[in-house]
Amino acid sequence: MTRDPSTSLDLEECIEHLRALIRIPSVNPPGVPDAAAGRDSTGGELRAAQYCADVLAGSGIPAEIIEIEPGRGSCVARLSATVPDPDPPLVLLSHLDVVPVDAESWSRDPFGGDLVDGEVWGRGAVDMKDMVAMELAVMLALSRGRVPLRRDVIFAAVADEEAGGEFGARGLVEQRPALFRDARGRPAAAALNEVGGYSMTIGSRRFYTIQVAEKGIVWTRLSASGAPGHASMPHTDNAAVKLARAVAAIAADQARRSAVVTPLVAEMLGAIGLAEVAELAVSDPAGARLVLEERVSDPVTRRSLDAMLRDTVTPTILRSGKKVNVMPGGGEAELDVRTLPGTDQAALLDHLRSVVGDDAAVEPVVALPAVVWPSDAEIVGHMREALRDADPDGIPLPMMITPGTDAKALAQLGIPCYGFAPLRLEPDFPFLELFHGHDERVPVSALEFGLPVLFEVVRRFVAG
Ligand SMILES: [Zn+2]
Repeated sequence: MTRDPSTSLDLEECIEHLRALIRIPSVNPPGVPDAAAGRDSTGGELRAAQYCADVLAGSGIPAEIIEIEPGRGSCVARLSATVPDPDPPLVLLSHLDVVPVDAESWSRDPFGGDLVDGEVWGRGAVDMKDMVAMELAVMLALSRGRVPLRRDVIFAAVADEEAGGEFGARGLVEQRPALFRDARGRPAAAALNEVGGYSMTIGSRRFYTIQVAEKGIVWTRLSASGAPGHASMPHTDNAAVKLARAVAAIAADQARRSAVVTPLVAEMLGAIGLAEVAELAVSDPAGARLVLEERVSDPVTRRSLDAMLRDTVTPTILRSGKKVNVMPGGGEAELDVRTLPGTDQAALLDHLRSVVGDDAAVEPVVALPAVVWPSDAEIVGHMREALRDADPDGIPLPMMITPGTDAKALAQLGIPCYGFAPLRLEPDFPFLELFHGHDERVPVSALEFGLPVLFEVVRRFVAG
């Protein structure tokens, strides 16, 4: 018997799962007691995976716990298609790990899962235990509503996203690719993942982001070498000075880096009324920035838009020297490099080598290309429709994000991975600042809007 599946969708239960997951400190890297918060996160991802598995099992959905390394738990479950000759699966992807907290900077316990004034507080509230809880609720509703399925629906809540996914998505893709395929070995038709889906108010218009692209990543190391010696008798071959000079040259080069307006970003800027920014970005960068400042009040949104217009090279770590009176023989800096679709990463590294000259060697540590998926795919159509049905004034907006996610791992199997965690937010809610920020929290009203939208997208894509 088929029940009305939408009545099986339980917001309150979803909120309780979110709060319970926040109370499991699944900080990555694990095992380092977070002194400020008084928690030891060893095995946190495993406990969070077990929580999901128990919830699924409670509704008769068998789930597997997979530890790529002991304690680094991921939870994978599958609702099998109910029709003969099904279509390739849908993956509901999420990550269970969270970044560390600086508890003293928080107004509440970061692992308390408090529900206060209509907001759920805690590390992971937006990145991304909210989506774990929503995807759990969708699995439960499909199962309880006995929705006939024309494709498998795979729930995958994984470890280690925040550190690159070796013990999570990347490890699973490499060691257990069948988890993301159907019985005939075909990869999933699509995955739904984090970040996109939230509303963004620009001027008086509300947009809903549909994330169809991610910038590429090249984590890069600069290494300087010099001659050690007593600092009281200095010479000029000082690794600390060379490293500082190289980093300063990299920063100056970044400040001059010209914009590249990719078709997706041009379309996006046009849709939000910022076509002028796309037009000026290359010919008059200062003018483009001025327009951004006038039209976009939120500084984080401005920075995010600016980063969509160029490759970025950002020094983040510097190390040299151990003692004040010893000239260092070496030094290292690390650069966070993010590349637009179409950027030749090897050519950019060669350029950086020419920028630092003899002061430092430049080597990539991790290199992952940008990903771009079709914005006219069937599932994107369902997103547009479900958003319009739920908020007729909202405007769906295909976009690229500047950070990377586990989408890059699933891309290796050819699975299009769309960022779509729908949330309707008030215009002044500082959403983007809360990713990895203090006082991370999510309004219940945002989930109340988003959960049925997510469910509708899934239902339209999978119902037989
Ligand atoms: Zn995340």
